[in-house]
Amino acid sequence: MSDIWDLARELGAKIVFFKPDGNVTKDGMYYRDISTVCLNALVSEKRQENVLLHETGHSYYGHQHYSCHAKGWSARQERQANEYMIHQRAEEWLAQYDWEPQYIDYSAFLEYFELDRKHYSLAEEVFTEILVGNKSNHCCLQ
Ligand SMILES: [Zn+2]
Repeated sequence: MSDIWDLARELGAKIVFFKPDGNVTKDGMYYRDISTVCLNALVSEKRQENVLLHETGHSYYGHQHYSCHAKGWSARQERQANEYMIHQRAEEWLAQYDWEPQYIDYSAFLEYFELDRKHYSLAEEVFTEILVGNKSNHCCLQ
């Protein structure tokens, strides 16, 4: 499994840790113009990885901020970045099985990777896509 340093290298970014004060609750943010990911030093490494996976998702889809003063990512871009993050985590989750599981415990999945519960339905979608995609591959091989 990759760690935050590998992920940052892939993204071409430096990592800077910050200690949040009262009003900063974010796990991290990415300052693209200076290629620096700022990570909350007080959260777990899993949550720091999630930040990097999310940001890698933006880069994977070629998303760009229009300007520093824009509102930031559109909802659609956020969703794609989250989908990318969950896809990576889903692959990790599935790697623990020798064969395809009959049933995915999405709550356990979200809990294990310390992902927000709001990603529940996205997780369902991503797993379905992976598992159904695998099945159709098997059909082609027969
Ligand atoms: Zn984002």
